[in-house]
Amino acid sequence: MLDLVGEHAALQPALDEAVQEVLDSAAFIQGPAVGQFATELGDYLGGAHIIPCANGTDALTLALLSLNLPAGAEIILPAFTYVATLEAAALLGLKPVLVDIRPDTFNIDPAAVEAALTPRTGAIVAVHLFGQCADLAALRAISIRHGVALIEDNAQAIGATFQFENGETAYAGAVGEIGTTSFFPSKNLGGLGDGGALLTRDPARAILLRQLANHGQSQKYHHQHIGLNSRLDTLQAALLRVKLRQLPTNTAARQAVAARYDAALTTVAGITIPARDSRSSHVFHQYTIRLEEPSRRDTLQHFLKSCGVPTMIYYPLPVHAQPAYAYLGYRAGQFSVAERLCGAVLSLPVHPLLTEEQQDYIVERVEDFFDN
Ligand SMILES: *Cc1c(COP(=O)(O)O)cnc(C)c1O
Repeated sequence: MLDLVGEHAALQPALDEAVQEVLDSAAFIQGPAVGQFATELGDYLGGAHIIPCANGTDALTLALLSLNLPAGAEIILPAFTYVATLEAAALLGLKPVLVDIRPDTFNIDPAAVEAALTPRTGAIVAVHLFGQCADLAALRAISIRHGVALIEDNAQAIGATFQFENGETAYAGAVGEIGTTSFFPSKNLGGLGDGGALLTRDPARAILLRQLANHGQSQKYHHQHIGLNSRLDTLQAALLRVKLRQLPTNTAARQAVAARYDAALTTVAGITIPARDSRSSHVFHQYTIRLEEPSRRDTLQHFLKSCGVPTMIYYPLPVHAQPAYAYLGYRAGQFSVAERLCGAVLSLPVHPLLTEEQQDYIVERVEDFFDN
């Protein structure tokens, strides 16, 4: 699915140098690379404030923590996402309220969000799934109209942009009160270990988030808030600075791979290629096809595996079917779009180093499968 060894080989001298610099400085926590990386990432994302932290799940936890919500406040989020989106809310004693997704983009359905609002709603968490923005126009309007904070879980769509009706363009993560992201190695901007960050345009919130991520302290040994120990290691920041320079090229490479898949697979009867929202760019964290006959999905995956083609199922279960979240009391059938998709989706390799030959081979094997 990925060729991280290949990607890192091309960057080897710069990565070595970054590691050596941190070793030499011995400033392993909050060293200069952390601030430098935050500034560079902020510049890349249109000048937002970036608050690095330990991982993308902590970023979500910190975002919710900074809203200072009463216990039991309801957090609206999509039923089709990685479990971390839910976990952060649940761990804070907030109540995850799931809503269904759109069948075309797989992103949270704004109409379902609106229907789920109550006086107890504390925040809406939108996920920009697989690399494409959720309907930020509708979500921002709902957030403003109802005075409810919008948080963007942007672990999968770093660098994606969304164009509003008035022509305004914004980066994913920079539209709501807070954006969160992850530098887990397999993400589009992956570190060599865990890492994450928050994004905000509000300088006061940036200060609060920075304190919350560092034991709630305003200065050393002065603790204003109950916070977390959630800092990005200097070493990861130094390595991520190198990888950030490669991000625009890698994103373009992913998009080129996706365009070739689109052209080749659109004529294959039996699958639906990823829907594009014309207002959003797509950075293709995943290239996820949908089978018209879900009963054939696992057979296709096994067939491709036997041909040496790796694939993944994101996600095999909707979050409400996970045992840990049974206490929320949802029933099978409540989020029918998410449930159907879990049985019908398959993600194909879409990494920046995928060659045209490899891709042609993958496409031919998919064609073979549907011809038989
Ligand atoms: C990866 C991911 C996270 C969590 O990030 P970690 O850095 O692994 O904690 C959260 N939300 C989504 C949608 C993700 O894909």
